[in-house]
Amino acid sequence: MSDLIDEAAAATELEREVCIIRAADQIAHPGCIHCEDCGSEIPEARRAAAPFATRCIHCQTNFERRV
Ligand SMILES: [Zn+2]
Repeated sequence: MSDLIDEAAAATELEREVCIIRAADQIAHPGCIHCEDCGSEIPEARRAAAPFATRCIHCQTNFERRV
């Protein structure tokens, strides 16, 4: 039973590390950012205006409408 808990904890830890690596990678390579919703490349103009945007303008608009 405790093995299962350890495995779950390890998976969560790994997931967190992947998130940190991914975030660091995006900061290091802002030119590689793709929209997290549709996967298309975020236009350079938008990245320049919003360097930490994770969505293209269409998905961001939809996202903000949902909220
Ligand atoms: Zn998109």
